[in-house]
Amino acid sequence: MRIDVLTLFPRMFEMLNDTGIFQRAINSGLVNINIHNIRDYTHDKHHVVDDYPYGGGAGMLLKPEPIFEAVEDIIMKVNPQESVPIILLTPQGIPFSQSAARRLSKHEHLVFICGHYEGVDERVRQYLVSEEISIGDYVLTGGELAAMVVIDSISRLIPGVLGSEYSPENDSHSFGLLEYPQYTRPAEYRGWSVPEVLLSGNHAQIAKWRRRQAIIRTLERRPELIDKSSLNREEQELIEQTQKAETDKDTRVE
Ligand code: SAM
Repeated sequence: MRIDVLTLFPRMFEMLNDTGIFQRAINSGLVNINIHNIRDYTHDKHHVVDDYPYGGGAGMLLKPEPIFEAVEDIIMKVNPQESVPIILLTPQGIPFSQSAARRLSKHEHLVFICGHYEGVDERVRQYLVSEEISIGDYVLTGGELAAMVVIDSISRLIPGVLGSEYSPENDSHSFGLLEYPQYTRPAEYRGWSVPEVLLSGNHAQIAKWRRRQAIIRTLERRPELIDKSSLNREEQELIEQTQKAETDKDTRVE
């Protein structure tokens, strides 16, 4: 996958090159990340990238010309025939999700635009961008951290990036449930023991326990994620029992 990022702060992306899995993805050639300084696409002596908003108001906006020119230059150089998602990071975008990460991980080329100050001129959004992504209902100073969040979650889904020892299929949000609880050595720590079944070596029992735990955990923390139609009869009963136990507990407290 080729990733191009337009930013006013290229150095913020340096950490991606020297960290764990991302470093491996880059070194193995599975991900090719190119950071472009929006300032390099200005034509004036002072490399001005921002200006006051028409109509007044506080703050500055990123001007459209350098952003359009940067994206058009990248697309021309890479493959003008290709339809490339041009993604704007913005708190007004569609909330990012694991399914969006999965969809984007199937593309060969992605372009990210990081806003700053008050954001970008509306014409960038209207006539250049194909997708707007928000990483949550809060406002960051710039799109750089948001772009890194999105790039990280997409890259780890590219086959080969995580290596054979890790598979993302059981991760939370990958199959409609949160992940089951996990333990490592020691089997007993400060009197707290690892559940017996995990030490049993019985893989069928372990898989069953994990599935039950994932359902219970999701029910406790994010019940809205559960799609009951994807559960078998026994699992649906488990949900009903857990919910009934919760209601009984609440009634007793009252
Ligand atoms: N005035 C803008 C608004 O109210 O929608 C917010 C601008 S914000 C201070 C500056 C830049 O940070 C945005 O252009 C965007 O690129 C980025 N940004 C801020 N919050 C974000 C979020 N939740 N998700 C993605 N990008 C965000």
